[in-house]
Amino acid sequence: MSFASLGLIDPLLRNVQELHYQTPTPVQVKAIPAVLGGRDVMAAAQTGTGKTAGFALPLLQRLVQHGPAVSSNRVRVLVLVPTRELAEQVLQSFVAYGKGLDLRYLSAYGGVSINPQMMKLRKGVDVLVATPGRLLDLNRQNAVQFDQVQALVLDEADRMLDLGFARELDAIFAALPSKRQTLLFSATFTDDIRAIAAKILRNPLDISVSAPNAPASKIKQWVVTVDKRNKPELFLHLVAENQWTHALVFVKTRNGVDYLASMLDEAGYAVDTIHGDKPQPARMRALERFKSGDVHMLVATDVAARGLDIDDLPLVINVDLPIVAQDYVHRIGRTGRAGNSGVAVSLVCADEAPQLAAIEALIGKTLPREEVPGFEADHRVPETSAAGELIRKPKKPKKPKQPKVQGEQKSKPENTIMPGSNPFSVKKPRSKPAGKSRSR
Ligand code: AMP
Repeated sequence: MSFASLGLIDPLLRNVQELHYQTPTPVQVKAIPAVLGGRDVMAAAQTGTGKTAGFALPLLQRLVQHGPAVSSNRVRVLVLVPTRELAEQVLQSFVAYGKGLDLRYLSAYGGVSINPQMMKLRKGVDVLVATPGRLLDLNRQNAVQFDQVQALVLDEADRMLDLGFARELDAIFAALPSKRQTLLFSATFTDDIRAIAAKILRNPLDISVSAPNAPASKIKQWVVTVDKRNKPELFLHLVAENQWTHALVFVKTRNGVDYLASMLDEAGYAVDTIHGDKPQPARMRALERFKSGDVHMLVATDVAARGLDIDDLPLVINVDLPIVAQDYVHRIGRTGRAGNSGVAVSLVCADEAPQLAAIEALIGKTLPREEVPGFEADHRVPETSAAGELIRKPKKPKKPKQPKVQGEQKSKPENTIMPGSNPFSVKKPRSKPAGKSRSR
């Protein structure tokens, strides 16, 4: 199967060739002809399957072949995405796939000044990639009107609902012309997503390119059990022992991100961070530095979990498991992309057994476990199975009656860190587990 046989025009074929895409991926094989033919599409496709080109290439072709030129403050293709990072990434994909076409593109999201976005909309744009909240702001201020919208794409629809955009989405659907093409992409298909699909899609082609909720099959995944307080030391030990040089590291809290990043920095690794409290330009900079190789370790909260396109990322390390099982699939989807192999390691403590059970139930397999000598867990992690059960209830760890370190609190997402305090521990950090040295 070739891209040419899918009916794409020459400029698009040239661009695909320049990007060294040899053959279309399964989602592209199905989506491209359907979208070119003007059909609605509903696709269960996670990041890494090539879904962006699956909708961007045929929509670009339709922009060239169908419909009048864009008027001022109008948009012809509207792509809704959950996060700023994904907005930038999808925009860059449109720009790359549409090189040489006479089309205008823009991304619009919150957290940055609205004025430049309003200025750029004055001339009209052919493709607008936006987060729902900022799009509605722009619409309310008359910077963008929807009467020329010929196609709507919902990208990572499940994530948009997770982030609480349901009301914004409804407002947007109500404002769009009813005669339009609609494409819906989602890694997972919950009842809520199906309800949206039933409401906004007309006779869609239903595409499922991998078992829903299954991570890309070429990712080798395993779990290392450990006590919570020893996670940072174990993490550094694993990085040094395995000579891991390039990894995306996920931590639940902002405290944890800052703590691990400072440990890595001290140990001589080039490290940067992404979390919700960082201004958008600093987040984009961190991502760019990581992609270019200036930074070897990127430590992030789940802000970074979805949609980031990082070529050839070999390794994802979950120092904490995500609260929501679907986020595990998204996190590890940063590796093993477009057919490459990848590794995903999760450090799991006793408290996280329910999350582990939920993840295993979601992906339909029990993850292999390891213990690292010197880091064996005092608080045993109860066994779990892909049936989604905790086989034995976790023993409640005895709470040591030690005074809290000043300013330390149980980690909760995106809180603040007191210098020097270990957010992985509710008691003073043990200096080093017996017999282990950080530099090994
Ligand atoms: P996506 O799932 O759209 O985020 O794409 C994942 C990665 O696959 C991106 O790095 C794309 O550049 C790459 N990609 C998309 N389509 C192809 C293809 N047909 N052949 C090789 N790589 C591709």
